[in-house]
Amino acid sequence: MSQTMKALVLRGGKAVIESRPLPQAGPGEVVVRTTAASLCSADAACIDGEFPTPDGTVLGHEAVGVVHEIGPSVSGFSVGQRVTVASTTPCGQCADCQRGFSGHCQGAAWGGYTFGVSRDGSLAEYFTVPFAAHNLVAIPDGVTDAAALCVTDTIASGSTGPEAARLPLGGTVVVFGQGHVGLAATMTARALGAGLVVTVKARPGGEALARAVGADHTLNLAEHDIEAEIRRLTAGAGADCAVEASGAVASFPRAVAVTRLGGVIAVLSSYSGPDNASLPIPLAQWGWGIGDKTILSTFQRSGSERLGRLLRLIETGRLDPAPLLTRTYVFDDSERALADLATREPGHIKPLITF
Ligand SMILES: [Zn+2]
Ligand SMILES: [Zn+2]
Repeated sequence: MSQTMKALVLRGGKAVIESRPLPQAGPGEVVVRTTAASLCSADAACIDGEFPTPDGTVLGHEAVGVVHEIGPSVSGFSVGQRVTVASTTPCGQCADCQRGFSGHCQGAAWGGYTFGVSRDGSLAEYFTVPFAAHNLVAIPDGVTDAAALCVTDTIASGSTGPEAARLPLGGTVVVFGQGHVGLAATMTARALGAGLVVTVKARPGGEALARAVGADHTLNLAEHDIEAEIRRLTAGAGADCAVEASGAVASFPRAVAVTRLGGVIAVLSSYSGPDNASLPIPLAQWGWGIGDKTILSTFQRSGSERLGRLLRLIETGRLDPAPLLTRTYVFDDSERALADLATREPGHIKPLITF
């Protein structure tokens, strides 16, 4: 068998396919042979330098495959088994993991996010899963590779907002942003028992997709007075939960404004742009500080136990992420897939990369 593989590598500010040595499984690790992968706006952030990624790093953090090699001190998996892993791969053992904030493993903001940033990622014919006992999960027979792929980041991240908000059964959720994470928040708010799901995006477009994954009403900033529309749809009360997944600073005060007293604003965005110094809170809509509104800053919850629960939702038909994969490419065309994703063409959410 060949001891080299093809990988999509960050090289000189670009993503290029290179030949790399086949990885070997060290203690606690499992090497996976990739069968499908997808691309993400975060990959672009690694390429353009927003995330500090060393030159020569294998890109990518969304992949599924079969177990190829099992390292020392890993049990419970067998070679050839279909598996996947979340885009964050925390150790599961440090103080922050034990406190339930594994995304910030080892005390660093986003510390669990290492694939394609501080260690080789999964856009390659083979990739290494660290802390496999904590992170690797078997894919149920009834779940396709494509569907499992959507769990790795899109659903694992998008579901964190509604789940962390402890949404009341039948409650109203407003989701700001309808990229892949916002669409996943829409989908999982519905699965968590939301009675009414309203989506908000900047411009018209994508309404059919938002409705297909669970939105009851689709609003956009160009055509609607968002606050007035939410008041109208909730008989003046406001939403139980606003999920801010747009990443736009201007969406944050809107999320505060549409949330009812005692409600929850769950932020799934990183406002890491160079011009962003602070987030405005509109005092009147926040109840002047005594509105019992909770602002949650959240980051993807991962680990094999949580991923297993998300995969069960797909296995039992309660969640169907298929509409999120809008184009298919072979791995050799990954550079083109990245370029196409960067155009932000309406209707194109996620590329499926086949191997
Ligand atoms: Zn991603
Ligand atoms: Zn940790």
